[in-house]
Amino acid sequence: MIACCPFHHEKTPSFSVSPTKQIYKCFGCGKAGDAVRFVMDIEGISYPDALRWLAKKYGIRIEEKVFTDEQLAAQNERESLFLALNFAKDFYIRQLWETEEGKSIGLSYFKERGFSHPTLQSFELGYSPESGDALTQEALAKGYSLDVLEKAGLTLVKEGRKPIDRFRGRVIFPIHQISGRPIAFGARILRKDPQAPKYLNSPETPVYHKSQVLYGIYQAKNAIRQQDVCYLVEGYTDVVSLYQGGIENVVASSGTSLTREQIQLIRRFTPHITVLYDGDPAGIRASLRGIDLILEEGMHVRAVVFPEGEDPDSFIQRVGSEGFRKFVTENQKDFIRFKTELSLESIGRDPFQRATLITDLVQTIQKIPDAIQRAVYTQEVAQLLSIDEQVLISEGNRQFQKQLEKPTRPLPSVLPENTPPVEKAAPLTEVQPISNALSLHESECVRWLVSYGGHVIERNVSENIEFTLADYYFQELRGMQFKTPLYQRMLNLIRGAYEEGSILPSQYFTSHPDPEIQQAAIHWMASPHELSEGWKNNDIHVPTTEEKLADLAYLNILRLKKARYESDFVSLGDSLNEKQTDEEVDQTLQQMKNLKEIIKKIADLLGTVVQH
Ligand SMILES: [Zn+2]
Repeated sequence: MIACCPFHHEKTPSFSVSPTKQIYKCFGCGKAGDAVRFVMDIEGISYPDALRWLAKKYGIRIEEKVFTDEQLAAQNERESLFLALNFAKDFYIRQLWETEEGKSIGLSYFKERGFSHPTLQSFELGYSPESGDALTQEALAKGYSLDVLEKAGLTLVKEGRKPIDRFRGRVIFPIHQISGRPIAFGARILRKDPQAPKYLNSPETPVYHKSQVLYGIYQAKNAIRQQDVCYLVEGYTDVVSLYQGGIENVVASSGTSLTREQIQLIRRFTPHITVLYDGDPAGIRASLRGIDLILEEGMHVRAVVFPEGEDPDSFIQRVGSEGFRKFVTENQKDFIRFKTELSLESIGRDPFQRATLITDLVQTIQKIPDAIQRAVYTQEVAQLLSIDEQVLISEGNRQFQKQLEKPTRPLPSVLPENTPPVEKAAPLTEVQPISNALSLHESECVRWLVSYGGHVIERNVSENIEFTLADYYFQELRGMQFKTPLYQRMLNLIRGAYEEGSILPSQYFTSHPDPEIQQAAIHWMASPHELSEGWKNNDIHVPTTEEKLADLAYLNILRLKKARYESDFVSLGDSLNEKQTDEEVDQTLQQMKNLKEIIKKIADLLGTVVQH
């Protein structure tokens, strides 16, 4: 079944669902998964919550593990904090709309800022009265304990004094969890008081960790997914006024510099972030470090600076949403260019500072996980600085080398049992670069096992013996360990089940809670090549993958072993200059010679096989 994708904006459908395989995949944006993953992604909730959501929808009873007393107490405490915070939110809203003080101070402030009624409601904005303990007293009367109110960050308790409200005489911005529950508050003071901070926030509590939350994410998540970009601004009011102006895909990192958790939160909805800066150069420079972190997470970052004296809030009020979007589109720069130009402005032609800048820029580029992107940026920076690209590449290589020299955990090397010469190879002590070929053949191997492990590839009728693809692979692989961590994890699962006498069905992997495993499996099951053969019915007979299975597996094993021996050959060569005695050197050279012969034999075998 084909439909327009709910995860990205498109006009021609590229989102396919296979009821038989119980998976979906979008060939436009790459989103893929099973029913549980779909609910997780569309609702932005965790795996257990998605299970509960589905169970509720279909009336399935789920039995949850019985908690220990301590776990139960912690769970109950969290629940009571959530209840108290929700009560407080309702209290602040009532104060804003229904009391004289709220209306004359809070509501008139919001009106002055131009916030409409629907906007105030969407963000559940409120007001906390000046009187010292209005919230605390009402909550206590409703049965909330003082302990809970204090732990939720709502009430300040000091020995020998009457408990008082944390927020007094301020407008209130509730900070919502991604599912919409209020977990904390930001509060802005309205009267002139040089002693009091302009903004006051809830403290860290068992349910609120500042570094893991983004202001506005609950209201913005669907728009972020639809627009496939998340705007990042500085303050609560920027978020609210952009949202009201029709720019809904916007969040703020409430007063902290951006953290890894916050970036990962955004990545659940889009890989693109555009940072919107006020025209204040000092503030921009201070935030550049945080952006390196976004690049490191493999996200695409762009930046826009608003004209001098404007912030996103004032700007949208002046030009409206159309003008705003136009300005962002025309003025956004990819982050590396942005950083380069900004730095060039401040250092001019000072040669020493230019050298520091080059090191710094190369460091930033090195953080980008994708090699092609790195190359593009290297080229661009070379042009901007008008220097030879090779200078940047050498600097990059130098920094990379420095990283490699750091001591790392030794990688165990286990080789197939039936190859005497390499079996005694010394354990490898350095990080081995996994060759692309090796990783590719490892992935092919796991792919065949996941898709066709139980298929019979040879049948001996007289002896009533059936030989499956998994039988063949595990006979050939013996104890071999893969070097690509993901494929090794998957191989372990398959091998473990095989040794217990069972073959894991494909669905085990397409529904696996480990997202890396799940994505790999779905990618294989739903590849376009498969689609045309497996998902459609046609009357013309072409040899199916199943029919060619034995040949394909044989080829894969040969290529895998060849790549593996080649990789071992390279490691042995690298280990030569660490050998202490001539005897050790001779021994290593002999091992290398043996390996070379095996590699040659496999190459000959591969030469005689018809290549598919
Ligand atoms: Zn899509």
